[in-house]
Amino acid sequence: MQPFMKSRTIKYTTVIVLTISLIIAAVPSLVCAYTLSGYSWDDVTPLKYKKDSGMSAASSTAWSSSVSDWQPSDANFQLDSSNYEVYLSDTYNSGIGWDGITVLTTSGTTILSASAYLNTYYTSSYAVTQRRSVSGHELGHVLGLDEHSGWVLMEPSTYNRWHLYYIYTPTQDDFNGVNSMY
Ligand SMILES: [Zn+2]
Repeated sequence: MQPFMKSRTIKYTTVIVLTISLIIAAVPSLVCAYTLSGYSWDDVTPLKYKKDSGMSAASSTAWSSSVSDWQPSDANFQLDSSNYEVYLSDTYNSGIGWDGITVLTTSGTTILSASAYLNTYYTSSYAVTQRRSVSGHELGHVLGLDEHSGWVLMEPSTYNRWHLYYIYTPTQDDFNGVNSMY
């Protein structure tokens, strides 16, 4: 499934927000806080999600781990395949530089739905915690967080976040960001 193609089918009254995880390294920052995207859900208790049954087992495991990782936040992910707001899947694209992407559909500042993907071109060769670092980062975008450079899960570069910092679960700063919205 192609996130960009999918996004183009959404009607024009909906704002599409793309947030990506970059493969390339960025300049690290030791300042820890959070950045909000400006978009948030009306209600995240619960926030219903579906996992694509066709994705790889490794991707599915990563999403499940990251859903659990975020549960201490004020958002409550709940599996509901028949009535969901969040769709979790993977895709294969060798022609792009991101290993994870989140597509939000919004109205005003309210998030109506979200689809998040791991790019298995990269993530199929990742270590388990590295893949989980990407899926957890993308769920941060699903919840309304923006990129934030530093020792946090919302650090945009997977190289920095995992190889340098070895972060693959939300930090207190990431939780603080989500809890500031809900
Ligand atoms: Zn990102």
